[in-house]
Amino acid sequence: MSSENHPDGYLRYARTAIPDRDPAARVADDGEIYAPEWSEQQLREQATRCMDCGVPTCSAGCPIGNLIPDWNDLVSRADWQRALERLHATNNFPELTGYACPAPCEDACTLAYNDAPVTIKNLERAIVDRGWDEGWIVPQPPSARSGFRVALVGSGPAGLAAAQQLNRAGHRVTVYERDDAPGGLVRYGLPEFKFAKWRLDRRIRQLQAEGIVFRSGMELGRDLSLEDLRREHHAVGLTIGAQHPRDVPIPGRELAGVLFAMPYLTRANRVAAGQAVPGEPDAAGRSVVVLGGGDTGADCVATALRQGAERVIQIGINDKPPAHRPADNPWPLPLKVYKQSYAQKEGGEEVFSINSVAFVDESGDGRVDTLRAERVRWIRDDAGRRVDREVLEPDVRMPADLVLIAAGFARPETDTLDAPELAIATDGTIHTDACMATSIPGVFAGGDAAMGHSLLVWAIGEGRDLARHMDIHLTGHSALPASLRTRNRPLRADGWAPLGAAG
Ligand SMILES: Cc1cc2nc3c(=O)[nH]c(=O)nc-3n(C[C@H](O)[C@H](O)[C@H](O)COP(=O)(O)OP(=O)(O)OC[C@H]3O[C@@H](n4cnc5c(N)ncnc54)[C@H](O)[C@@H]3O)c2cc1C
Ligand code: SF4
Repeated sequence: MSSENHPDGYLRYARTAIPDRDPAARVADDGEIYAPEWSEQQLREQATRCMDCGVPTCSAGCPIGNLIPDWNDLVSRADWQRALERLHATNNFPELTGYACPAPCEDACTLAYNDAPVTIKNLERAIVDRGWDEGWIVPQPPSARSGFRVALVGSGPAGLAAAQQLNRAGHRVTVYERDDAPGGLVRYGLPEFKFAKWRLDRRIRQLQAEGIVFRSGMELGRDLSLEDLRREHHAVGLTIGAQHPRDVPIPGRELAGVLFAMPYLTRANRVAAGQAVPGEPDAAGRSVVVLGGGDTGADCVATALRQGAERVIQIGINDKPPAHRPADNPWPLPLKVYKQSYAQKEGGEEVFSINSVAFVDESGDGRVDTLRAERVRWIRDDAGRRVDREVLEPDVRMPADLVLIAAGFARPETDTLDAPELAIATDGTIHTDACMATSIPGVFAGGDAAMGHSLLVWAIGEGRDLARHMDIHLTGHSALPASLRTRNRPLRADGWAPLGAAG
């Protein structure tokens, strides 16, 4: 591919991204936050801004090494179908990343050095949307079956990507999922208005039509054992995510109205899906405080606003990031600057450098109504870790009759797996070697379960790598493509032999 037909696109066109819907309008309905339509001419112009650099730093900045200059060039020529093929060459589910990836590729785009980057994420989304609309995305069952049976446990993006790759290599794949439907955090974490579930269901139907079997409502450690799975399959992949939440263990934690983010978001997703869900209160009419500044926190803010919360404040324990790239965060590294989230644009408030001290029940009815906190300046060590604090304001009080804890995820939920021989790394993730093998023969792990809580794009890449390593374990070789990370991994150590022909 080359940019011969558009050598000066970046000089002729300024960056123009597809806008999201007006925040005031979208917060009042349940629709997706994204503008549904765009101009093809504008997208093609934006694609011509790509300079087809000799060293495509955008691809290196994308965790799955998407072939970005190739599909930019094809879009500029209106060859959307080939653009889709190039996109799918590295990414099983570009609609996930095209809608919900934070796009570190754009931070690494050469134009971002002293100009605005190419609208890579918009183009990715436009290509895959076009592919679905045109009917180009169809089931691709394998032409022959290997005779090997493979189990994957957990159906988030890592499990789904691994399943599709392993199935395409000819293995019989069954995906076991403890929830009532596949999708992992894409189904029950990301809100409907950030990623509509019909997009997920459409992909699941493609995977089913390719021959993948889904067994939902099956929890490893409760409904099936690792021994059962190993007996019935030639290899097992653990893609169980890392959903064990970090707590904020301060006085008053036991009060009613102090909840973890995930049960709150899961409930909202179930309600959005039309399910009758008893239990946890929603945010209507309440003063909501969200503890945690990341994606999960933003999703809580946006959900509470749609439920009719009176006021929603998102609290970040860390200092507000700088407005411009600091000297210790040079291009092309992922940008560490303040970016206003979509939820804040919709009316959420945010404060930084706030250390929570206690959840308080002033009225004495057993329910939280106030957050007590202190405003601080953090003192950090050379590695940037918080080691001490200077208290600038000791008694900050905020009305809080619903507190949502979105302080991140500590580790996978391995306690209930009933697999004591599974080695766990010091950070709580499932220990794997360079080939993604766990301490149990024939059992592999990938995604958040093995790398810690991360991003959709990493999970997809992990799933692809997992499939390749499991395929090599089964057959001794693999035609499945290696991702950027796998390419840097050694092949299996001495003393290992493939399973060989399936019995
Ligand atoms: C609220 C929220 C919003 C997010 N938003 C974004 C975003 O906008 N962009 C982005 O890039 N990333 C986002 N992320 C991160 C992203 O969702 C995760 O990194 C990604 O889903 C991890 O994929 P995974 O397949 O490894 O695990 P998960 O998606 O966590 O899937 C793991 C699956 O395993 C199942 N499971 C667990 N234990 C068992 C068991 N014992 N037996 C059977 N099944 C089991 C779980 O039920 C789950 O379905 C968000 C995360 C959250 C929580
Ligand atoms: S997956 Fe994310 S990082 Fe990669 S090209 Fe798409 S938006 Fe960029």
